[in-house]
Amino acid sequence: MATLADVLARATREGELFRVLDDGRLQCYACGHCCPLPEGAIGVCKVRFNEGGTLRVPWGYVGGVQCDPIEKKPFFHAHPGALAYSFGMLGCDLHCGYCQNWVTSQALRDPAAVAPPLATRPEDLVHDALRLGARVLVSTYNEPLITSEWAVAVFKEAKAAGLLTGYVSNGNGTPEVLEYIRPWVDLYKVDLKSFDDRHYRQLGGRLQPILDTIRRLHAMGFWVEIVTLLIPAFNDSPDEIARLTEFVAGVSPDIPWHVTAFHGDYKMTDPGNTTADMLLGAAAIGRNAGLRYVYAGNLPGAVGDLENTHCASCGETLIARYGYFIRNYRLTADGCCPSCTKPVPGRWGERFDGQITSRPFLPGSRSRLSVVS
Ligand code: SF4
Repeated sequence: MATLADVLARATREGELFRVLDDGRLQCYACGHCCPLPEGAIGVCKVRFNEGGTLRVPWGYVGGVQCDPIEKKPFFHAHPGALAYSFGMLGCDLHCGYCQNWVTSQALRDPAAVAPPLATRPEDLVHDALRLGARVLVSTYNEPLITSEWAVAVFKEAKAAGLLTGYVSNGNGTPEVLEYIRPWVDLYKVDLKSFDDRHYRQLGGRLQPILDTIRRLHAMGFWVEIVTLLIPAFNDSPDEIARLTEFVAGVSPDIPWHVTAFHGDYKMTDPGNTTADMLLGAAAIGRNAGLRYVYAGNLPGAVGDLENTHCASCGETLIARYGYFIRNYRLTADGCCPSCTKPVPGRWGERFDGQITSRPFLPGSRSRLSVVS
């Protein structure tokens, strides 16, 4: 019987995100690791490899799809209430001990992570997204940068059909991959996990490529939101949160920053769960750093008004939320505060189009997906 590695090695095509080094190795630059790959070598991500002088990259499958409210990604300043048809492939360039998607992200790295790839085509994903009323198509669940050739193929179809597109990413990018995806990706969420390079090395990465990517994303005109999962005794010191939020505010004080609550998962079950008070403390540090849109997540109803969007100029409540549910929407058709008329940064529709769901759901049996064998 074929192993998952055999199956995934076949579910590939020739990649585009690489250069040939002087010594003949292929250097992949889909992510910040920039692996130099001699013949027969596989990248840190375990899903891109050099076969006979050709870089083979993931193609033609998904590890899973789900219909999520866009607030779950989370994007709070992009078409509130929209349905985000979300897909992922398998593999990741990091190995975070608390990953909530480890079954797909740690495929081929952790023998316990076994998710059967489901064969599909870009047009079938887009067809399914439209059938379900999605407004946005999002690459998520594993690290989208490492499967960017596939994401771009899907997003070309999505944009032709009038959909918005997004990445939910760890931000470990390169200038080349950002140039490659720029025409096809509208929204970009970066999970800024820490502001300490030693912590990033524990997770299998480095801090600097992520900071460089955040600066570039903003300069290149992606709509960027940043999330930090607040993990007690890992990244929650006031000093680290202050430096992290000062960095984000230095890129732009208009970048929304979401500080969200940790609960034990995968290999990291020792830290206690993040409390509402911890979130409120971190949010206050973020506001002191100059951030104008600070949100606290994962604890609906327990974080005061930190689930809501306020006008940064006059304080008016513009969007009221409970968890992923939109309770009230008051932006004008041109994305301004109805009270003081100041523009609110984001990607807004002309009106609030209602909300298909405030809870994730699976697309159901009419999706054209079949297990890859
Ligand atoms: S995606 Fe990143 S980890 Fe994978 S081969 Fe390319 S550079 Fe290496």
